[in-house]
Amino acid sequence: MTSEHNIVASLTDIKAVLLQCDHCGARKSIPREKIPQNSGFLDKCEICGTDWWPEGSYKNPTEFPNHIVSFLETMRDIRTIENMVRFTVLLEFDEPTP
Ligand SMILES: [Zn+2]
Repeated sequence: MTSEHNIVASLTDIKAVLLQCDHCGARKSIPREKIPQNSGFLDKCEICGTDWWPEGSYKNPTEFPNHIVSFLETMRDIRTIENMVRFTVLLEFDEPTP
């Protein structure tokens, strides 16, 4: 018999979203309760200066950052919403392999 282990977490378990630079590996932490007012923090790496939006990388360069900001705002607001309804949104992950 095979045993499968998964990790289950709720959106309220998420403390922050990390943005990791593909060039230098630096990570910027965006705490759920401290979402920047605009998407300027998505422009480039604060450590190495790499432009995170190379020309032609996205058909509408203003749309994707807005999606990320909306995601962060939803994460922030979900705690209030979940107090008003009778279900909890859970996320399921595969257990990390060693
Ligand atoms: Zn970088």
